[in-house]
Amino acid sequence: MRKVEHIGIAVKDLANANELFTKLFNQANYKLESVQSEGVSTSFFKVGETKIELLEATNENSSIAKFIEKRGEGIHHIAFEVEDIDSEMQRLQAEGFQLINQNPKDGADNKRICFLHPKSINGVLIELCQEKAK
Ligand code: ZN
Repeated sequence: MRKVEHIGIAVKDLANANELFTKLFNQANYKLESVQSEGVSTSFFKVGETKIELLEATNENSSIAKFIEKRGEGIHHIAFEVEDIDSEMQRLQAEGFQLINQNPKDGADNKRICFLHPKSINGVLIELCQEKAK
């Protein structure tokens, strides 16, 4: 893994959180994007090399809605950039980590992504992401 690509934060109200994080970072978000398949609206900020992804559920079946219901707002996942997501998924599965999706899927911000189950990593939801070729 190369670096922390972004940190995902689950929020109840994206518009409010956007205002708050704009004040916190003293700069506006650079992107708003909905990922229909995941039932989320996202907003991205860039702080140095690392991005912050705010996530709001767009329907009650969204994993973000379930997360907030169970644990409240807060840090939802940590995403690591990988060079080759397919080989990294294979390696991690062989090491005994549980993959949530067996094939990489399309994520926000032009990425192929895969989630590792928090049960297999001390309660931390980890996302692997690889930038798609443009
Ligand atoms: Zn993410």
